[in-house]
Amino acid sequence: MSVPLPPSDAPATAPTNPPVDSPAKVSIDAPAKLSVDAPSKEPVDTPATVTDAAAQVTSSTTTAASISSTTAVSKIPGRSTIPDDATSNPHHLIKRGEVVGFKNPYPSWSHSVGFGTILRRVVWPTITGEVKQPDTTPPTVPVVKPEWLPDRESSDKIRATWLGHACYYVEYPSGLRILFDPVFEDRCSPFTFMGPKRYTPRPCDIKDIPIVDAVVISHSHYDHLSHSSILEVQKYHPEAQFFVGLGLETWFRKSGLNHVTELDWWEDADLTVTVKDGDKQRDISARISCLPCQHTSARTLWDKDTTLWCSWAVRSAEKSVWFGGDTGYRGVPYLPPGVDDYGDELEHLPRCPQFKQIGDLRGPFDLGLIPIGAYSPRAAFSPMHANPFDSVEIFKDTQCKRAMGIHWGTWALTSEEVMEPPRVLKEALRRKGIAEEGVFDVCKIGESREF
Ligand SMILES: [Zn+2]
Repeated sequence: MSVPLPPSDAPATAPTNPPVDSPAKVSIDAPAKLSVDAPSKEPVDTPATVTDAAAQVTSSTTTAASISSTTAVSKIPGRSTIPDDATSNPHHLIKRGEVVGFKNPYPSWSHSVGFGTILRRVVWPTITGEVKQPDTTPPTVPVVKPEWLPDRESSDKIRATWLGHACYYVEYPSGLRILFDPVFEDRCSPFTFMGPKRYTPRPCDIKDIPIVDAVVISHSHYDHLSHSSILEVQKYHPEAQFFVGLGLETWFRKSGLNHVTELDWWEDADLTVTVKDGDKQRDISARISCLPCQHTSARTLWDKDTTLWCSWAVRSAEKSVWFGGDTGYRGVPYLPPGVDDYGDELEHLPRCPQFKQIGDLRGPFDLGLIPIGAYSPRAAFSPMHANPFDSVEIFKDTQCKRAMGIHWGTWALTSEEVMEPPRVLKEALRRKGIAEEGVFDVCKIGESREF
């Protein structure tokens, strides 16, 4: 029997992580195996409750022969710019007065991706041949070796380099350097021996990245958060500050990373990078904003939705990037093949209102990094993963001036053909009367674009 590779977005849960040929085994073996086989001994116990982020986190290191930098983070108290319907925190799950988990608060989250959905919409259609595993035989997405700016002063534009899947490295004209969702392993899985394996090579190693001031993590799924990658970032960039969603700070601290700040949706923090070059010293400032998205989280069988999934905005010296991370937009029901879920009859399906809120309250953004892949079959994954038609709606709602497609081209998490997302993206742009090139693009892995 052949079943699709695990949709590693909820990798350690039985329903969404069936190993090839033995789907029943995970639910029996995985709990015991997690602590034994996890590649880099990550903390596996669930944070019991959400703790307050440290008010001030500082660190320092030397990044070049005579140039050093220190970083400091100040969490901004309160939430000054927030939609009315978010002030009551409808995404919090409260037990005995404490936040113990999270949920998607809007009807656009039509169903969670559970065992029944996977069985009905993925496993059975695979058995019958209705759904096929994508062919990852090369050539697929071209991979080039990334090139970096020679120093912090070298550009008056945002320079963004795709490092595969959701990982982007962004060089700001202010000199700020941000790494989003770094995952450099071959497999995005709790196991080193199974789970989705890269079909395109990583374009570089973490040690090749010259400067990292901050790492922004969208959520806990293995294709976005890697224990060994974050340890490696800390090893080569000990000054880096980590920004994570509510509930994830404990996991980072247990992993030995103390420069971590967790934020709730609509909360902000200020990052200051002090660069010293001989006698000269200057500060680079950035505003890091935790913003909503529609998704889920889990690293083990017992921590589902106990940590928050987020999108993020990072603004520095008037240049801004919105990082979509991983999100759905509009859950759609099962439809016969060929039916357009953006057709008139389905116009009534609710859309996630959070992206318009982000655009209205925090936009516009110079660059959006927006997921376009891992969407098929649509009836299974639409609540949690945007397809390119959703992605273009998100692009418009969030008021991004330009965008690059992420969350594709690296691991075959779902059943669409691996080169389909950019093709459908062009169709979606055309339908909205947006130019097919130069607005919302994709690029080679390792390629840099300027904005
Ligand atoms: Zn993902």
